[in-house]
Amino acid sequence: MSFSCILRRLLTLTLGAVPILAGFQDFGIPASDSTVDVKAFNVANFTLNNLTHVFVHPVLPGRETITLPMHAFLVEHQSSQKTFMFDLGMRNDPQNLTPAFAEFFSSGAITVGNFKDITELLQDGGISLDSIDMVFWSHGHFDHIGDMSKFPNSTQIVVSSKTNLTIFPVSSASDLQASDLDGHEVSTLDFDNANLTISGMPAIDYFGDGSFYLLDTPGHLTGHMTALARVTPTSFILLGADALHHAGELRPHGNFETNFPCPGDLLDAARDAISTDFFWSSNSTPGAFDLPSRAQPLFAVSDTTDSFYVDPVEATVSIDKIAALDADADFFVLFSHDLSITAILPYFPASLSGWQVEGLKPSSVWLFVDPANPAFLFSPV
Ligand SMILES: [Zn+2]
Repeated sequence: MSFSCILRRLLTLTLGAVPILAGFQDFGIPASDSTVDVKAFNVANFTLNNLTHVFVHPVLPGRETITLPMHAFLVEHQSSQKTFMFDLGMRNDPQNLTPAFAEFFSSGAITVGNFKDITELLQDGGISLDSIDMVFWSHGHFDHIGDMSKFPNSTQIVVSSKTNLTIFPVSSASDLQASDLDGHEVSTLDFDNANLTISGMPAIDYFGDGSFYLLDTPGHLTGHMTALARVTPTSFILLGADALHHAGELRPHGNFETNFPCPGDLLDAARDAISTDFFWSSNSTPGAFDLPSRAQPLFAVSDTTDSFYVDPVEATVSIDKIAALDADADFFVLFSHDLSITAILPYFPASLSGWQVEGLKPSSVWLFVDPANPAFLFSPV
């Protein structure tokens, strides 16, 4: 038993009913000393014009357009030295996406400036593409699958077995085209036969040593999966992909506030800035929003007919399962499009594996309620 586990048990004995952080073993995660190292890239920021409503509810006047980063993660399995990616961001020639996605860009619905794609960012950073053994796609959307034609054939693609691997134009509704798969071995993960469950999510221990789990996390697109990276024997990063698109879909939540109180300066800013015409909690008064007495997230998952969640109810349940991990000190939740943390997240070549000792979680989880933060969407403009 690690020191932190012993400390927790002692605190539980001493403090009785006082809220206590559960610890990873309470989520069904076996103990292990095997770890991976995680480094993040933000491939590009893209702006979705008049599309905030496909992600979250409510959308306040003047907040109809949203800008999002596109995170991609370089992961190294320490004992085997295998190196792989979890998501890639998008290719930098959007005109060559499948027609349905290319149309988003040609019509101006989505805009993105010029940028270096992940293959350039990796090589600029001294990482040879030959060294990337595999790429996990959280799901098959264009902003996660990159341009696989730039990777050597030796790079394998790993997806959930529920992912639609049909190809446009053979299948007119497909998100993928031949160049996304050509030459690469594709292996699929069968969550229906997973023998592990982590926080209610069917889980696959990819290396069989407890260092990197894939979690079945449905709701956004069929086959959507997240990853749980063990970066020290007792601390983890949840790579949440598109299980959610805004920190306000995750927080506040249950006892999160008890374990990770909102810093006083942000609390004051939120009190004045979050509109009480649109958001409420028991201790709020008109014009003064009280964050600590709010137990459910500020945003609901979009359920409009054009929602980017294929199943908003399922997505909400998935977010609940992630929120249980989020409320625990052993887990740091990142997701692909979290704009709230881009100013403070240490990007490649920095490693995220020391997030816990570096205090990254308490300093980042409430940034989105600050009206000065680019992810703040809680007042009309
Ligand atoms: Zn996405």
